[in-house]
Amino acid sequence: MSDEKFLPFALPEIGEEEIAEVVDAIRSGWVTTGPKTRQFEQNFSEFLGGGVESIAVNSATAGLHLALEAIGIGPGDEVILPTYTFTATAEVVRYLGGTPVFVDVLESTFNIDPQAIVAAITPKTKAIMPVHFAGLSCDMDAILSIAKQHGLRVVEDAAHALPTTWRGCKIGKLASDFTVFSFYANKTMTTGEGGMVVTADAELAKRCKIMRLHGISKDAFDRYVSKTPAWFYEIVAPGFKYNMSDIAAAMGIHQLHRLPGFQVKRELMAQAYNSALAGLPICLPPDAAAGDLHARHLYPIRLLPECGVSRDTFIEEMAKRGIGCSVHFIPLHLHPYWKESCAVTPEMFPVAQRLFEQEVSIPLYTKMTEEDLLRVVNSIRSVLNNA
Ligand SMILES: *Cc1c(COP(=O)(O)O)cnc(C)c1O
Repeated sequence: MSDEKFLPFALPEIGEEEIAEVVDAIRSGWVTTGPKTRQFEQNFSEFLGGGVESIAVNSATAGLHLALEAIGIGPGDEVILPTYTFTATAEVVRYLGGTPVFVDVLESTFNIDPQAIVAAITPKTKAIMPVHFAGLSCDMDAILSIAKQHGLRVVEDAAHALPTTWRGCKIGKLASDFTVFSFYANKTMTTGEGGMVVTADAELAKRCKIMRLHGISKDAFDRYVSKTPAWFYEIVAPGFKYNMSDIAAAMGIHQLHRLPGFQVKRELMAQAYNSALAGLPICLPPDAAAGDLHARHLYPIRLLPECGVSRDTFIEEMAKRGIGCSVHFIPLHLHPYWKESCAVTPEMFPVAQRLFEQEVSIPLYTKMTEEDLLRVVNSIRSVLNNA
């Protein structure tokens, strides 16, 4: 047992600037979507280098739903996605009456296997949803070329991938139809709850903006600043209630400003883990290619059979030493709903199944100190030595 304080698996880093901006939003009276949301969206597009529209929403799940709605996913349509992801990636396909088609991942990166995508394509396939696991980009050259060849849409689940680059290009700026980011509390930046939908296509962006707020053709802010009478609006579709509030955007503006610094810190911590854990009977997560950015949302290690301790025992032993760990992910093919509704079994996804059985995510976040990191390393060594 450790007498030190428990080190949680994840914690957000929220500073005085975020707090002051949130207070400012509240004092201003604009607590729903308004000027701060507009500013956050603009700053986000600028952060990505321009040439895209950013549409702020109240979660990445909402954003993925809007993206699939905008590209016209409907009943009978198949959407290919990795089984090794969070349920949000797949559930949004169901919201629209479509069929998620799970495929296996690559052992080296935990990311969707391009060959498995090709093997899963049928005449009903409409889209591919790559997930940049832990913040490392998928092989987007392969995925975009498969999509082009087969006339498929691409919606990137970039919940982990801010900021991430693929061959020098920021995720969000590639040739896919949509990229969706998450600002959930444990992601690389947070607005409490929130997400951003990014697209370079003006028509798709327009559809998302309408559908994020009840199918209203203009949002509250437009009514406030334009010549149209404030009371006037038109419903053009049965939309959703997915808009971001200015309270959330106020946090986002400053979190985004600090994001490059957060990434540098996360990468340094990952490198510190890489050297401190080298030589142990565990498999360390892959680095990005030279010159590319890895968002380092997670640091997923794999306990190899020779380490003599099961994944579940390892997590219990770490907790006894005051260290919070987690598992990413319980693949979709193991959850009762997906198992039954998609008729999938572990044998269909041998790589994902093996990764899941061995995977442990250890703490990696900017609020951790060097001592915290050392404590995690020492605890891992102690658990493995006592196995
Ligand atoms: C967190 C997460 C989401 C959902 O993000 P929310 O903002 O909580 O809706 C989607 N996909 C993946 C892979 C995630 O990790």
